[in-house]
Amino acid sequence: MAFESLSDKLQNIFKNLRKKGKLTEEDVKSALKEVKLALLEADVSFKVVKSFMKDVQDRAVGADVMNGLNPGQMVIKIVSDELTSLMGSEMVDLKLNPQTSMTVIMMMGLNGAGKTTTSAKLAAKLKSRGYRPLLAGLDIYRPAAVKQLQVNAEKIGIDVYWDDKHEFLPPDIAKNAVGYAQQNGYNIVILDTAGRLQIDKDMMDELHEIKEKVTVDDSILVVDAMTGQDAVNVASAFEEKVGIDGVILTKLDGDTRGGVALSIRATVGKPILYVGMGEKLDDLQQFYPDRMASRILGMGDVMTLIEKAQQNVNEEQARAMEQKLRKASFGFDDYLASMDQMKKMGGMKSVLSMIPGVSTSQMSQFEDAIDEKAMARTEAIIYSMTPKERSNPDILTPSRRARVAKGAGVSIDEVNRLCRQFEQSRKLMKQYGNMLKGGKKRRGFG
Ligand code: GDP
Repeated sequence: MAFESLSDKLQNIFKNLRKKGKLTEEDVKSALKEVKLALLEADVSFKVVKSFMKDVQDRAVGADVMNGLNPGQMVIKIVSDELTSLMGSEMVDLKLNPQTSMTVIMMMGLNGAGKTTTSAKLAAKLKSRGYRPLLAGLDIYRPAAVKQLQVNAEKIGIDVYWDDKHEFLPPDIAKNAVGYAQQNGYNIVILDTAGRLQIDKDMMDELHEIKEKVTVDDSILVVDAMTGQDAVNVASAFEEKVGIDGVILTKLDGDTRGGVALSIRATVGKPILYVGMGEKLDDLQQFYPDRMASRILGMGDVMTLIEKAQQNVNEEQARAMEQKLRKASFGFDDYLASMDQMKKMGGMKSVLSMIPGVSTSQMSQFEDAIDEKAMARTEAIIYSMTPKERSNPDILTPSRRARVAKGAGVSIDEVNRLCRQFEQSRKLMKQYGNMLKGGKKRRGFG
């Protein structure tokens, strides 16, 4: 999961700091030293860590702490603020022209970074915002590339322009694509350019030529978060040789360290616009530095969770669930329904990671809770209960559990485990329900 190891380390450091009650200057110093180590281990570049620590230290010994505020909370707040500012402070989006005129987005990156997948994801996102995007396949060197673009585009109902007669070079294909888009009522063209295995002059020259033939509004570099500091070097090279307006960081879902997300802005001076959080075509999220910092520090990302819920759970269902939660009548039938909703929202882990105050150990209990096979067993167990037991799980005595286990063809241990999970989930659903109800209600530290 994104940032998992960095997040665990920072949360531990702060937990120890909070436990102490009164803090000495020495305590703060040693905590900050640990923060520094955690960032270095997360593969944040040395230069960036050095300047980050200087900013934090300057503030930590400055006026803020002398106000007599709780020093532990202050340190956490400073680290959170500085993490946010490291990632750019404000959310930055694509530069999109009004829908009545054309916007051209050029996607660049090395092979395998996720350029083609991301082009399709971006098209889907823009379509949902009311634009009419056209994808253009410019990778004439790998026949499979255009095919892949077409397959993805079909899934999301987006048209693809390509040079089916193999007559032109990429800069002219780009020009023709924009001409075609103008004539056919599209208002965005996303150019999926050819990558290479590594930075090379031909690729850079080609990107230059494309920019000469068409007016590019956004030059977007796609980099793979898992490649660590290499990704930062790639970004520096593209910025220097072609010029970039922003970065899309892919595969953040598998990047437990997070060094690229934390280094790229400070090193290259360009913002991260979106992050790829999975292989599916709706796994592209807008990048909000403050929400990301919150998530890293275990303060949750309530805003993203609410947005996801609004997109995936219909209002009526949510209201019904909320009612049940309030009346504390959340039973096993609701548990099944909520598992299904979680699945739609990107899985239990992804949802839990956004809830403030949910620890990694709490999360690990749910690791396989909604994997398909486990779901089927869970269903079998729940359907072996009587309706009364399902709506009032507290009456599940050991002898009833034994009967349920027998009915579902599983061990009593499994039934017990489900009951424990259910209890946990009842608690979490309550937190989640309160959040949906109350909007941005964050649990702070201290
Ligand atoms: P390209 O060569 O740059 O066009 O890369 P592709 O779009 O073909 O992507 C390479 C691989 O990365 C594919 O298997 C994608 O499914 C995968 N991929 C792309 N973005 C993400 C992401 O955000 N998360 C994960 N887990 N995989 C991704």
